[in-house]
Amino acid sequence: MRLHPDLRRVGVPVDSWLDGGAAAICLTFDVDAESNLLSRGDHYLEHLSTVSHQQYGPRIGVPRILAVLQRHDVPATFFVPGITAERWPETVAAILDAGHAVGVHGYRHLTPAEQPPDVQRRELEDGLLALERLGAQPRCYRAPSWSTTACTLRLMAEHGLTCDSSLMDDDRPYVLETPWGRLAELPPHWLLDDWEQYAYIPDPDLSEGIETTGKVLELWSDELDAMRQTQSLCVLTCHPLLSGRPSRVRALERFIVQGKEWGDVAFLRCDRVAEAVLAAAPAPYAAE
Ligand SMILES: [Zn+2]
Repeated sequence: MRLHPDLRRVGVPVDSWLDGGAAAICLTFDVDAESNLLSRGDHYLEHLSTVSHQQYGPRIGVPRILAVLQRHDVPATFFVPGITAERWPETVAAILDAGHAVGVHGYRHLTPAEQPPDVQRRELEDGLLALERLGAQPRCYRAPSWSTTACTLRLMAEHGLTCDSSLMDDDRPYVLETPWGRLAELPPHWLLDDWEQYAYIPDPDLSEGIETTGKVLELWSDELDAMRQTQSLCVLTCHPLLSGRPSRVRALERFIVQGKEWGDVAFLRCDRVAEAVLAAAPAPYAAE
């Protein structure tokens, strides 16, 4: 059963992207900042408590996370909405200076599945432009709220993006054959997302609840440990405005240390996994 009539999955050998390990991790960080509010209306800028909660991400969370990544010498991928890049250019500069990858996360964090095609196009193009103005050369895309559409994938291919991390029908990367070109898919999952564990935002209501770091660490470590048996790709999704809190960034660091101590988990950037997967995929079918 196809996910969509225009899409065909192409599997690739595990060895092509696993880098000799038992499992691999892509540490990813969605730098949403104020974009979650601005997608719902500029009037939220008057709600200073909520704005300040969102600004904690680039102001406090990103520097702390960058320090952890540097301490353990692991690469990461930061997905940045265009409006975040415009409001926090120094944050994008710090991410790039540290050698991490920057991916597109829309412009105003509008969810593609709820937008007409012209708005989807504007979101992607404005998001890309804002990042390119700061010297980033994004290869990867993650749909806000993981709401990718076939239109999104067409726009990605049109703009030379080669990697999506929004679809959940696997726990290994694969190639998506589309009429517009090939893309690598790096599947995320809500189990490996900090939003479901840590988010409490009453207005606008974006809440999930506040869980202990012990529970979160257990969830993530258990999944990663099991992935060492299934040779999977662990796409961890964190938001600096949530995971930048002191106890949570410490839990993130413990998760990274655990992965390194096992000795058979490769830490990879999303664009590197995508390159390997696309290079390993067999030649496209002329016809089905
Ligand atoms: Zn987001």
